[in-house]
Amino acid sequence: MQADIIDGRALARQVLAEVAEGAKMLDRPPGLAVIIAGDDPASHVYVRTKVKRAEELGFLTEKIQLPADCGEARVLEEVAKLNARDEIDGILVQLPLPADINTLRVMAAVDPAKDVDGLHALNAGRLTQGSGGLIPCTPLGCMKIIKSVIPDLTGSHAVVIGSSNIVGKPMAALLLEEHATVTQCHIHTRDTKFVCRGADIIVSAVGKPGLVNADWIKPRAVVIDVGTTRVPKADGSGYTLKGDVDFDEAVKVAGAITPVPGGVGPMTIACLMENTLTAAKMRKEAKENEWPVLS
Ligand code: NAD
Repeated sequence: MQADIIDGRALARQVLAEVAEGAKMLDRPPGLAVIIAGDDPASHVYVRTKVKRAEELGFLTEKIQLPADCGEARVLEEVAKLNARDEIDGILVQLPLPADINTLRVMAAVDPAKDVDGLHALNAGRLTQGSGGLIPCTPLGCMKIIKSVIPDLTGSHAVVIGSSNIVGKPMAALLLEEHATVTQCHIHTRDTKFVCRGADIIVSAVGKPGLVNADWIKPRAVVIDVGTTRVPKADGSGYTLKGDVDFDEAVKVAGAITPVPGGVGPMTIACLMENTLTAAKMRKEAKENEWPVLS
């Protein structure tokens, strides 16, 4: 029996509709600022889509474009200016940054209350404690996708392949919060295939097309493919996006599976909008009650 193919675009539309409703409750539109340094073509495509989606929702939107050789001090200066502006609720620094810039230092400079990518250590720490805060958009989107097919994850065995700060680690933390038994695999894991074969849920966030084959997947398991690798087309006419999973074979074994494109990607953007709204609401509430936001 063929797996259900999860429609990430349809789920994203639902999230965006909820965000649009939520934004009506505020006295001003949520504000999202994106900083991009350098000219990585894929990053520019992502930023364009993020800004467009925010504009469609009527958010205040700002894009700060810096040259590749701008240096860390300039990025930190822009972050500080945005931290100080009341009408900006969310600050996103598009990654990867140019190689001479220390990403962790930049993340640490973003006001945690405006950290819509959930990468500040305070938000990462809160996630591992299950005590609120802003959650990285891609794992947040993956969790919504998983819960659309398995509403209660208690006791399921979930395997996360990949352990980056932006996807793998927060994904594992979120699954743990939902009472799944979580195994995290990475480049040094000895037998990822063996581990995956016991999983009810596989989330692959690696960036290696074809890594996850049909024989890695337990029959009827839920397979979430985060991987997005740009592979040049044979005729030289541009690129196609490939996930980590051998979709054509995996779809014959899995119970539900996300496609690439049209799976996790649209949910990541929708969750960025949700996080911007969450940040705006948290900041408004804190201001009204004169309590600190996320300290
Ligand atoms: P990363 O390079 O920071 O991390 C990759 C992880 O994969 C590492 O933990 C590494 O140990 C692990 N890994 C590498 N080879 C492996 C192997 N053979 N077996 C098991 N683990 C292995 O990447 P990232 O930023 O976490 O992104 C991962 C992928 O997800 C990329 O393709 C990226 O483009 C994609 N991505 C997609 C979205 C989206 O919205 N769809 C968002 C973020 C990232």
